[in-house]
Amino acid sequence: MSGDPERVGHREAPILVFEDVVKRYGSILALDGVRFHVNRGEVVCLIGPSGSGKSTLLRCANALEAVDGGRVVFEGIDLADRRTNLVQVRQRIGMVFQHFELFPHMTALHNVTAGLTTVRKVPRPEAEERGLALLRKVGLADKARKHPAELSGGQQQRVAIARALAMEPDVMLFDEPTSALDPETIGEVLTVMKRLADEGMTMVVVTHEMDFARRVADWVVVFDRARVLEQGPPAQIFDQPRVARTREFLSHLGWHADADEPGNGRAGRLGVREREIP
Ligand code: ADP
Repeated sequence: MSGDPERVGHREAPILVFEDVVKRYGSILALDGVRFHVNRGEVVCLIGPSGSGKSTLLRCANALEAVDGGRVVFEGIDLADRRTNLVQVRQRIGMVFQHFELFPHMTALHNVTAGLTTVRKVPRPEAEERGLALLRKVGLADKARKHPAELSGGQQQRVAIARALAMEPDVMLFDEPTSALDPETIGEVLTVMKRLADEGMTMVVVTHEMDFARRVADWVVVFDRARVLEQGPPAQIFDQPRVARTREFLSHLGWHADADEPGNGRAGRLGVREREIP
């Protein structure tokens, strides 16, 4: 995988490779020859219009969906190989969904520890100690005994992130983690994600938060109509997109690639969706 010198993990073997992935739902072609890879320690953001295949790609990445063509290779393992133990593979891939998917009858702590005690057979006291440390990490130590209904959307999403981290995944997949949140709680979730990225977690993030993608991603993949329109470092995608449709998509979201205007520096300008990420 040479040829991407600007990518942080380019000297390491890729952790996740999508080779000409095709996925159909009946007559709908959801993925049409999608090809990119994720290196260890990278944050790769998937952006693009609704319906372009981004969520489908994530579901193929952890084998929630089988592909109809091409290959998904995770740490050298072809997910379609019938010898592959998909249950084991999925335990190494954390997933954070748009709608949190917490168990409503369990406390925040219990949501975080459930996988540890049931799947990993970790004794409850140890699981609770690890669970509390993870809730502390996402800034929710004081909410351990609360149920999801007593928490804001942003807090529930942070519990969901702690739950995924409990299994010590090699890669975290985020499917529009902030798009169901009230605007005032989006920042706290993005801050937690930024911190994870800074710690070196490998992350694949489907997002409409262009400011996050611009600042945090190592690599950005632009989807359009089931295909990859273009991919590259954020400076390319946001400041000098090579494909006119990328520029159209970004400008539709209020992002204007105006790096060449005097005094504007390298970063583009965000209109309506600007967020501060510490
Ligand atoms: P995005 O995440 O970019 O919004 P999706 O991956 O959700 O796009 O969808 C890509 C295409 O696949 C869309 O046309 C969508 O309607 C279709 N699709 C996704 N999931 C299913 C499904 N389970 N059954 C049928 N069609 C689906």
